[in-house]
Amino acid sequence: MKLTTFLARYGTEEACRAHLESVRWPHGPVCDRCGAVDNATPVAKRPGVYRCRDCGKDFRVTVGTPMEDSRLPLRTWYLAMYLILASSKGISSVKLGEQLGITQKSAWFLGHRIRALLDSGENLPLSGIVEADESYIGGKARNLRNSAVRPGRGRGTKKPMLFAAVERGGEARTARIASAKIDDIAPLLWKWTGGGQAVLSSDELATYRWIGRKMEGHHVVNHARREFVRGQWHVNTVEGFFGLFKRAIVGVWHWISGKHLHRYAGEHGFRWNHREDIADRIARCLIGQHGRLSWKELVK
Ligand SMILES: [Zn+2]
Repeated sequence: MKLTTFLARYGTEEACRAHLESVRWPHGPVCDRCGAVDNATPVAKRPGVYRCRDCGKDFRVTVGTPMEDSRLPLRTWYLAMYLILASSKGISSVKLGEQLGITQKSAWFLGHRIRALLDSGENLPLSGIVEADESYIGGKARNLRNSAVRPGRGRGTKKPMLFAAVERGGEARTARIASAKIDDIAPLLWKWTGGGQAVLSSDELATYRWIGRKMEGHHVVNHARREFVRGQWHVNTVEGFFGLFKRAIVGVWHWISGKHLHRYAGEHGFRWNHREDIADRIARCLIGQHGRLSWKELVK
């Protein structure tokens, strides 16, 4: 993204705050004291401040992020992140300070906090709408099991199975799995969504129905009934992820062994995760992690 475009979108405090709120609070403001979701009112004459209707606390979208106690405005943080992310070889604190109109010392601290955020950003949970699907690399697992469709293939196939979860408009996670059963898929989905804190979109496999009941929501696209898109509920994103991966295998790598599938899938996922809008990446770095249930706590 060009600097002029970036500034047109994120050049004001209001625009940066609105962007951060939309990413950090996809379901409405979240009170950091009592956890109430979308039950707060904006406080008059204090832009960005919300008051919780449950516990009365005033809070902002920056609560729990490194920006919370910063004297720098949000737009300075955004611009600093842009300058750091947009430069392939990095940027010195002297240059960063000049560009932001702050001292070199401030720029040095800011730069370090941002780099730390970016590092941790890679492992942040998927959130919002998360599409999940699994596939034999070579064909759709469940279709392949139906030997009437593809005689001589499918059941008993040695093709490795890959599981993928893709956040709508966000990152992808992949893992090689032994089967599409609950024991193989559910713990991964649980881990990748920070303890189920996402709305699942999947097809009708029983495994997804089981884990979906423990997540924030679950929307099923019934492929067996030839239903593929219902409003925003579809799995086109994750199917597109698999489609690109399979085309890369054919076109770039020609053949991959099951043993190395996870590495190729990881490389594909890395490219997928880094093709996005810089601002989206910025915002995801800022998503705080609140108390989350562990997988063990959920299943016990
Ligand atoms: Zn509250």
